[in-house]
Amino acid sequence: PDTQVQSINPANGEVIESFTPLNASGIESALDKAADRFLSWRNVPLAERAELLNSAADILEAKASEYARDITLEMGKPLAQAEGEVKKCATACRHYAEHGASYLQDETIRTDAHRAFVRHLPMGPVLAVMPWNFPFWQVFRFAAPGLMAGNVGLLKHASNVWRSALNIEDVFRRAGFPDGCFQTLLIGSSDVEGVIRDNRVKAVTLTGSGPAGRSVAAIAGDSIKPSLLELGGSDAFIVMPSADLDKAVKTAVTARTQNSGQSCIAAKRFFVHADIHAEFSKRFVAAFDALEVGDPMKDSTDVGPLATLQIRDELADQVDRSLKGGAESLTKDRTLPGKGAWIAPQILAEAHSGTPSTDEEMFGPVANLWKVSSLDDAIARANRSVFGLGSTLFSKEEAEIDKAVNELEAGATFINSMVASDPRLPFGGIKQSGYGRELAADGLHAFMNRKTVSVA
Ligand code: NDP
Repeated sequence: PDTQVQSINPANGEVIESFTPLNASGIESALDKAADRFLSWRNVPLAERAELLNSAADILEAKASEYARDITLEMGKPLAQAEGEVKKCATACRHYAEHGASYLQDETIRTDAHRAFVRHLPMGPVLAVMPWNFPFWQVFRFAAPGLMAGNVGLLKHASNVWRSALNIEDVFRRAGFPDGCFQTLLIGSSDVEGVIRDNRVKAVTLTGSGPAGRSVAAIAGDSIKPSLLELGGSDAFIVMPSADLDKAVKTAVTARTQNSGQSCIAAKRFFVHADIHAEFSKRFVAAFDALEVGDPMKDSTDVGPLATLQIRDELADQVDRSLKGGAESLTKDRTLPGKGAWIAPQILAEAHSGTPSTDEEMFGPVANLWKVSSLDDAIARANRSVFGLGSTLFSKEEAEIDKAVNELEAGATFINSMVASDPRLPFGGIKQSGYGRELAADGLHAFMNRKTVSVA
């Protein structure tokens, strides 16, 4: 029984379910099936692939509440947010069903030849190593464009969300995708190296922590296979005097506490101009103190438990070190539910550099707030982070907007709204947040052979 992998409800510590991981021969036959399936899947007409993706979308919508319940049980996010996540996956499937063919068109190039163009050809089986924070969305963000492109998918999901991993496989099966187009491999991280190195696997994508990304990218590099990394972030959220303050505060609270704060593109460091800092801070703290923390199955809950006790302990330790390093906590003390991975939403002010607040990703409902003297000051501090995923500016001044867009070191800058992923927009980071882009046309081209064709 100690080889079993358990899903544990982080709201109360109870074991939900146990799973038997795949053994070596199980992995072997899955890889064989993937390689075999690819040989026929790559020739399936685009219209047929699109139809299957639309069926997957129908199933996601029809079964959203069932899948959402399993997500909430396994990783603790508030149920309504889990349901929203499943439905968002349907929009990704529909997006690629509708636009896939145009993204995949040959690109004509004028040369001295009679005809020259780039054709997009799929690569084969692609491994996705995925995290637990958005157990459905992170996977569909990879799978919908990948399947439309003609690749086949292999999923190694985080070990705490294996029911969701099996539910995702079920979506594709029910939608009518041929067997082997998308397979969930119930494997631990120690089995990932062998899969990446296997000749049948052509590329790997990972969303998760820096250490996991570094390991996977090194193995992919050593085997000369393309990789894409979506790692952590410590996104800056800058508020200037011309901002609509009501909207800025409301957005700041959602951007920091949505998904109980466990999002790579959550705003984590707030830089507020001195002229409005006192008012912003007062409202921000009041809004945090008003958040309802508790049972994620309840409609009124804003913030649930974190996904695991270990994640909670790591965040609690980071908060501790930032407080010892000079930060001040602005939010009220709370009594939390007893058993489970609970932590109070909190705002830490004026943390010193060299503390987790400035240097690390804080993966939970903890906001870091600083007063800044100018936009230049805000941008300089924002860019001190090793991460570069998203960023937000609240301002109505065109010159400030332009400056932020040009100077913030991030894969995305959102003006007067929170950073959010959208199937129509490319998504990805720079610096230690990773490389490559998912979603939009980029996501579809990520793992393709852009073959140059020249006809004399
Ligand atoms: P991990 O990066 O460890 O987990 C993400 C995925 O990578 C899981 O499927 C995991 O499998 C796998 N994995 C872990 N280590 C390796 C490895 N050496 N080789 C191959 N695969 C590996 O994240 P954690 O769950 O440990 O979270 C730790 C921190 O990472 C968070 O607190 C947060 O800061 C960051 N994070 C960021 C995310 C984002 O969206 N950017 C998402 C999740 C985490 P297994 O579960 O079996 O270990």
